[in-house]
Amino acid sequence: MELSILYRGPLASCDYDCGYCPFAKRRDSPETLRADRAALERFVAWVIAQSEDQINVLFTPWGEGLTRSWYQRALVELSRLDHVGEVAIQTNLSSRTAWTAGADLDSLALWCTYHPDQVSYERFLGRCHELRDSGVRFSTGIVGLPEHLDAARRLRADLPDDVYLWVNAAEGHTYTDEEAEPWAEIDPLFPVSRFPHASQGHACRAGESVISVDGDGEVYRCHFVSRTEPTERLGNLYDGSYRQALRARLCPLTQCDCHIGYVHMPELGLYDTFAGGVLARIPAGATVLRPEPVLKPVPLLKSAGAAGTRPR
Ligand code: SF4
Ligand code: SF4
Repeated sequence: MELSILYRGPLASCDYDCGYCPFAKRRDSPETLRADRAALERFVAWVIAQSEDQINVLFTPWGEGLTRSWYQRALVELSRLDHVGEVAIQTNLSSRTAWTAGADLDSLALWCTYHPDQVSYERFLGRCHELRDSGVRFSTGIVGLPEHLDAARRLRADLPDDVYLWVNAAEGHTYTDEEAEPWAEIDPLFPVSRFPHASQGHACRAGESVISVDGDGEVYRCHFVSRTEPTERLGNLYDGSYRQALRARLCPLTQCDCHIGYVHMPELGLYDTFAGGVLARIPAGATVLRPEPVLKPVPLLKSAGAAGTRPR
């Protein structure tokens, strides 16, 4: 089977200080960092040891993972496995990108969020160009706050057409048609993000072919359904108990308002829209300029799969 895993360990520190994020400038203790590293290494070892499944992984740390060497190593290592289709991470792209040179670029992908009040425009755009020049697949995006509109327009204009720039509806923000229009001009898929999706009783791949895993290997269907509700626990990754719980399920929540959740609702057809890049939010047909250089289509994965409540 093909299994997509959203992994989130204990790490919650970030080098940025976004006003809209509860994890801004949080520091992790040395103990937490050691625990996060050990948990991640255990997870990578588990993926390496799998022989039956095609596995896709999206790292969705509460904070910023790529400032930590162990996330870079994990991405490189997993990308090189034949049975890993896509391995991706949500990042603010504050770190250097040279580490990607060791990765299999057919599998590696990055979800890069631009936070205009945290990083200079030139630095963020420069990092995007580094990735593209290196042949790394990525999407980039921004939170659709009114004060971000000019920066989003500028970034859209300066990025190559084949780099997708998504816009996330800002949490708690309702957009009139007039307010939504400029965002949809930047991101034609903004209508998908604009409103939460009614999900209660609707089919979702979460809990069947998509799971959420924490640092202890505890498995839940997604990052959103309560982790304090014992009946929602699917089991543990490391003792294999999750396996027998995988089955078709209906969502118990009223609505799903995050891409990493609703992308797995079959009724939305987003596996087709993002074929080959569901985890990193890269639409089908996006192209990547490889260093050779040749312009070649992003290879389609056999499927895909892409957490959380922090603003991305
Ligand atoms: S939104 Fe992302 S980049 Fe900004 S503080 Fe939170 S974790 Fe860091
Ligand atoms: S629709 Fe969203 S909240 Fe519901 S099970 Fe799927 S991912 Fe989780």
